[in-house]
Amino acid sequence: MADDLGELHEDFRRTCRAFTDQRVRPVVAEAERAGRPPERLWKELGDAGLLGLLTPEEFGGSGGTDGEDDAEAGRSLAVAVLAEELSRACGGIAVSALVSAYMAAPHLVRHGTPAQRERWVGPLAAGEAIAAIAVTEPGAGSDVAGITTRARRTDTGWLLDGRKMYITNAGLADVLVVGAKTDPEGGHRGITTFVVPAGTPGLSMGAPLAKMGWHSSDTREVVLDGVELGEDAVLGVEGRGFHQIMSAFQLERVALAAMGLGHAAEALDTVTEYVRGREVAGEPLTARQTIRHRLAAMEIELEAARVLTYRAADRLDRGHPEADRSVAVAKYFAAKAAAWIVDEAVQLFGGAGYLEETPIARHHRDVRILRIGGGTDEIQLEILGKRLVP
Ligand SMILES: Cc1cc2nc3c(=O)[nH]c(=O)nc-3n(C[C@H](O)[C@H](O)[C@H](O)COP(=O)(O)OP(=O)(O)OC[C@H]3O[C@@H](n4cnc5c(N)ncnc54)[C@H](O)[C@@H]3O)c2cc1C
Repeated sequence: MADDLGELHEDFRRTCRAFTDQRVRPVVAEAERAGRPPERLWKELGDAGLLGLLTPEEFGGSGGTDGEDDAEAGRSLAVAVLAEELSRACGGIAVSALVSAYMAAPHLVRHGTPAQRERWVGPLAAGEAIAAIAVTEPGAGSDVAGITTRARRTDTGWLLDGRKMYITNAGLADVLVVGAKTDPEGGHRGITTFVVPAGTPGLSMGAPLAKMGWHSSDTREVVLDGVELGEDAVLGVEGRGFHQIMSAFQLERVALAAMGLGHAAEALDTVTEYVRGREVAGEPLTARQTIRHRLAAMEIELEAARVLTYRAADRLDRGHPEADRSVAVAKYFAAKAAAWIVDEAVQLFGGAGYLEETPIARHHRDVRILRIGGGTDEIQLEILGKRLVP
């Protein structure tokens, strides 16, 4: 699998790029100020079919009919292309859309009861509802099995208590997918996921967290204080939540790796244009071999990241036995390469790269989280390294 996509995905890239140029770029400044994407953008994303790539056709998406093989359609690869293109314009807007449609909604698509799917899946694909996925806690991020949010059985259903941290879309979400311990002694086998609609008594959100980057995304603490849910709130199988979360992580990591490609590609394109036009001591910067070589090195890193990311997406679509390994390799490499490329671009912009008026400063802030979110660099290394445990 090279970085050359087939016709289907190249067509889709053109669609995503046109949407990004026409609908996303014009609203970036507004979204960064507001701390969230403008409301109308959700509907526009939905109408363009960009939130329903995994949603079955019966719910208005383009994700085929249930049970259809993903291999031919290349759905994870399409999500990667979308993540890349949206991130060329704005990481914060990109992650808001990706979390709702491709990190939270897939739990409902894959594991939802008919009633849960009927209620949420169509509106999420249409951009008429927004979802969040709440797993991380103040005391447990990388160690998902260590979450302590508790779900206790009651006569009528479940009672949830606990705190979730760093939850993207928390202040915008109509529905949250929440991971909780149904069996605190059961380790990772004691986790179950629940569907929690916004407005459920006992559910509250903290103030927006002030972040280094992703300023257009809404990130908050979520408090569950005696949240009463019915029997029908269980999402998937009781005790299988850890497995469901880990399996959804694969696409999440591909999307985050692909976001890195978008930041890096945008940085490389804009800085190349800049150094071509920038005259220093009477000649353009590109007259200097050292500058040309730096751009070439950035291009090589980007291409390697892209090949690894597309290969991981393709393997995920094909159910390849080494898909998880490829995803870890891609997430680790692409997030680091992207952070390096964007940093190099800032350097080549000189003083202009440090000014807020150049978008490169925003890309520099936004790209850094990709080495942390959805499984840190160290966790990707651990996924590969644990095979070596004697
Ligand atoms: C802006 C933002 C948005 C987010 N959105 C969401 C969201 O929507 N939903 C959600 O559930 N979570 C979300 N997260 C949480 C994110 O996934 C976690 O922050 C991430 O997984 C790391 O967990 P942690 O912060 O608890 O760090 P820790 O797990 O405490 O890690 C601290 C350091 O220790 C290292 N470390 C941890 N374990 C090991 C190990 N076994 N071996 C070696 N090193 C290790 C880590 O790599 C890291 O360097 C978000 C975070 C941010 C910052």
